[in-house]
Amino acid sequence: MPKPIHVAVVGAGAFGGWTALYLLRKGARVTLIDAWGAGNSRSSSGGETRVIRGTYGPRQPYTALAARALKLWRENERKWKCYLVHRIGVLWMAADNDDGWEKVSIDELKKASIPYERLSFRALKKRWPQINFEGVHWGVFEPESGYVKARISCQRVLEGFIAEGGEYRQSAVSVEGLESARCKGLSLSDGNRLKADRYVFACGPWMAEIFPHAIGDKIRSTKQEVFFFGPPAGDPRFDDTHLPVWADHRGRFMYGIPGNQARGFKIADDTRGPDFDPTAGERVISDERLVMAREYVAFRFPAMKNAPLVETRVCQYEQTADGHFIVDRHPVAENVWLVGGGSGHGFKHGPALGEMVAKIVLEGKEADSGWRLDRFRK
Ligand SMILES: Cc1cc2nc3c(=O)[nH]c(=O)nc-3n(C[C@H](O)[C@H](O)[C@H](O)COP(=O)(O)OP(=O)(O)OC[C@H]3O[C@@H](n4cnc5c(N)ncnc54)[C@H](O)[C@@H]3O)c2cc1C
Repeated sequence: MPKPIHVAVVGAGAFGGWTALYLLRKGARVTLIDAWGAGNSRSSSGGETRVIRGTYGPRQPYTALAARALKLWRENERKWKCYLVHRIGVLWMAADNDDGWEKVSIDELKKASIPYERLSFRALKKRWPQINFEGVHWGVFEPESGYVKARISCQRVLEGFIAEGGEYRQSAVSVEGLESARCKGLSLSDGNRLKADRYVFACGPWMAEIFPHAIGDKIRSTKQEVFFFGPPAGDPRFDDTHLPVWADHRGRFMYGIPGNQARGFKIADDTRGPDFDPTAGERVISDERLVMAREYVAFRFPAMKNAPLVETRVCQYEQTADGHFIVDRHPVAENVWLVGGGSGHGFKHGPALGEMVAKIVLEGKEADSGWRLDRFRK
């Protein structure tokens, strides 16, 4: 038997965890390393929930990727006998009558065989009377999409990885000297050195600091604030038995997830916030964003007008200039692959992206040209 290729994957978030698992399933020996643990509170994959949807606008690779991811989430849920995706549906509120973003998205949903319903204004009002649909003309509803448990999924992937024979180490990888030549090993914070044949770095918002030359300002870490409001006692209208995940594209892009493992009615503004330090940044919300969130909730969900704020969360997007991922080989260190730039929408794709990166690293396949680093030079 030939010796399996040894791959070290740095970062056990949504991108690194799934990549490590699929590398293992393709026959590699895999060591996964994380400084603070899978789905930790500093990582972009932390927190309770993330939206999983296929509506993505025209001509992009993400609807097809989401369709593949939905299949793989289900496959792994069956294998692990657990629920990670809550298929409560996703509703997109469309402001334009005709050729808006939602309308073009429908063609992509069709191509990717993601089920959808086109709902008229009247149908929306009838189905969800707890929403004020002012300014909305129609909607796209994806009945089989919904939300994914975030931190729990990352931890489940890690458990699955270990159960299938992967090795996990909780340690920080030193950022020194990673860009000058072929990588000959990693220095770990526990004093050990780890040698592998190939290396994958999926370090989310830390990619810029670890690879100042190859990545540098191509990934910016932005502060994103999330609010959880408390619905009235005993009122199910705002939990995930009565409300789907929703997205409202008028002006600012607001979205929300009901339920959230009883944390409350989650609402967030997708607008990119100021720069944020993922290691040392204090995760405290701003008064300004809280006022905006309250105003929006009162307008769109009138019965929640005086709902108290019960919890908050600050996370960061690892944002590329064009919002597309980065999946590429390092331009100098040819046994190093860089995977990141989830840009506020990466989580759902974890299993499909991991499967793809495993093929790229082990079989020499090329990443989608829209995800390669040379696009930034054009
Ligand atoms: C508020 C918010 C809402 C979002 N909403 C959605 C959504 O609804 N749907 C969706 O699909 N996506 C969403 N996203 C985006 C998605 O969560 C991210 O794109 C995705 O989680 C990124 O995963 P990652 O593995 O690249 O990074 P991370 O999760 O940050 O993982 C990187 C890991 O690397 C480790 N690490 C860093 N440096 C080192 C080092 N030197 N040594 C060892 N380990 C190291 C860290 O500890 C971390 O665990 C959202 C993100 C945020 C912040």
